Amino acid sequence: MITSDYELKQYLQRIKDNQAKITTQRIEILKVLIDHKHEHLTAEDIVKQLNDSKIGQATVYRTLELFCSCGILNKVNFKKEEMTRYDLIDLNKKHFHHHLICNQCGKVIEINDDLEKLEKTIQENYGFKIINHELTISGICKECQNGDRDEN
Ligand SMILES: [Zn+2]
Ligand SMILES: [Zn+2]
Ligand SMILES: [Zn+2]
Repeated sequence: MITSDYELKQYLQRIKDNQAKITTQRIEILKVLIDHKHEHLTAEDIVKQLNDSKIGQATVYRTLELFCSCGILNKVNFKKEEMTRYDLIDLNKKHFHHHLICNQCGKVIEINDDLEKLEKTIQENYGFKIINHELTISGICKECQNGDRDEN
């Protein structure tokens, strides 16, 4: 898996902008997040991915918290599960992406369509200034509707 340098640099810059230090451990963790973006890993998944690098679990947890506070990582919770999952924020997008969750197979689909129309209405009707939003839409995915899913 190849982490694009440009992407990595963007995130590192954001960490620096937040007065946090760049360490090799932080870079390692960031690389895992970039290589697995769209996958919504748990902290445990990330620890497993880092197996060779001997980075302790506590460090991973602390680093994830730091990344969240720097605005490069978002916590998401799906399907009423208690586990927190981590979702890398695309720094080139104005707002966070949304998720479609299939009630049948549990698949999570990321969508990047923005809610500009709704945002405009909210701003006009409520005088509310929107900073960001996180939307989860549940339903049945295309494959489940067609009944052509081979697992199960
Ligand atoms: Zn996501
Ligand atoms: Zn499905
Ligand atoms: Zn938006």
